[in-house]
Amino acid sequence: MIENLSNQRKSNRIICLGAGLGGLTAAINLAKKGFEVVIFEKKEREKLGYPWYDSVRGETFQNLGFSVPENVYTNKQLLTFIGPLREGKIEQLKSSEKGFEVDRKALINFLIKEALDSGVEIFFGVEIKELLIKNDKVIGVKNNGKNILSKLVIDSTGVNSPYRKQIPSKFGIKASISNHDIMICNRYIVKKNSCDEIPPQVWIKPDGAFGVSWCKDSINPQYADIFVGELKSVKNKKLNNEVDRIKLENPALPKTEWEAVCAEIPVGPFLSRIVADGYALVGASASMARPVSGSGIEVSLKAGVVLAEEVTKNMDKELDVNILWKYQVKMMRMFGTTFLLHYVFRTYFQDLSVEEIDWIFSSGILNSYEEKQESVVKNRIDKLKNNFSKAKLTLNTMRGYPESSEYLKSGIKDLLLGARISIQIPFKYDKEKVEIWQNEYDSFMESLRQRKDED
Ligand SMILES: Cc1cc2nc3c(=O)[nH]c(=O)nc-3n(C[C@H](O)[C@H](O)[C@H](O)COP(=O)(O)OP(=O)(O)OC[C@H]3O[C@@H](n4cnc5c(N)ncnc54)[C@H](O)[C@@H]3O)c2cc1C
Repeated sequence: MIENLSNQRKSNRIICLGAGLGGLTAAINLAKKGFEVVIFEKKEREKLGYPWYDSVRGETFQNLGFSVPENVYTNKQLLTFIGPLREGKIEQLKSSEKGFEVDRKALINFLIKEALDSGVEIFFGVEIKELLIKNDKVIGVKNNGKNILSKLVIDSTGVNSPYRKQIPSKFGIKASISNHDIMICNRYIVKKNSCDEIPPQVWIKPDGAFGVSWCKDSINPQYADIFVGELKSVKNKKLNNEVDRIKLENPALPKTEWEAVCAEIPVGPFLSRIVADGYALVGASASMARPVSGSGIEVSLKAGVVLAEEVTKNMDKELDVNILWKYQVKMMRMFGTTFLLHYVFRTYFQDLSVEEIDWIFSSGILNSYEEKQESVVKNRIDKLKNNFSKAKLTLNTMRGYPESSEYLKSGIKDLLLGARISIQIPFKYDKEKVEIWQNEYDSFMESLRQRKDED
């Protein structure tokens, strides 16, 4: 009963808002260490999770503090990426085939069961409206006028978290994620007319719009899996045209109206501040996802693990920003740099004309790089170097275009700047140093967004 919670003054209670992947992972690990963990999830239990499979990298389920059963995932589908003029193609190579397709309903059901078995209390269908804040510190939540106290509030409510804006401004947490950094999408799982195979194709910049779409057989080949997505900032109503095109080109698809699941995915780098006194963001609410690369699930799960580790290490201390900052630094070091470099790359990619993009696709340069990547990548540093070189190499391939030299120089400068800023995140929380770093990080991202606006 929620009422019982408000009567207790527990010093080891952790509240998690939203049964997001990071929140559930943190909850499981913290409950196993003896914390009293309570989750408030606004949806009913049976409504959680998506009715489809999503791809993740092979490392995703390693070192989570629990083992994910094999019925949750299956072999990865190999995709063919198609350029905007539909001449250039990039096929995913078998050698880079290390990932899985994850059954999103099965994953969330497993995590919920694991959480309950570990002693986490979950209230479904409960939406907390207000955080409880005293002397600028988050000390719990308010439910129907009653206070529920906690040592830490974990915000795992996804891309549109309503709580970020309640955090005192001195912590610098952004109230919302920029429209430049959100992809709005419709996804359809439709029963096919026939058992004809639908080749797994992904279109980049379909119809000239900045976005992605795909059509492929679902894991159950009686169904097709269709996705159309565009950046929220450049939404130009082409999503419907794209669905019509896909319908027209695939005789195995029914001509009827399909029911869409509409969703938003953060596609920018991490927010520059994800912790405050008594409060931490995990997963999509901290902008921990990247499109197509299969990282939103992995990074959210790992964020839960890293946050739980930092909290457990400091069990007897106040979980203030000094302590929680270590979680942000670790996440930035593990994933943040790659996210930022991808963002630079995507910004410049978005500047290219459809002809240029198609040429990159048909040149074979990305395919050959993928092969190389597999042979040289041994650790995270290698991988970072590799991603960096891959971006640089692609920008270099544009050298032959006379008008592109400024583009090239500025792209390489931004890649180096992005790498430097993310690596220089202050190791310890020093308010002044952190503010200087945050300013640099945010200004850099803003300059990239303005580049897109000039387009
Ligand atoms: C169409 C689509 C395709 C994707 N493909 C991939 C892929 O291939 N690979 C990959 O790695 N990732 C993919 N992602 C991204 C991935 O789903 C997310 O990155 C991942 O789920 C992490 O998000 P989250 O758990 O933090 O948030 P969410 O999944 O958004 O979960 C947030 C939870 O919080 C609840 N909530 C919201 N507000 C409140 C509130 N006020 N109070 C209580 N509860 C609240 C919601 O009901 C929800 O249960 C895809 C996403 C979409 C939509």
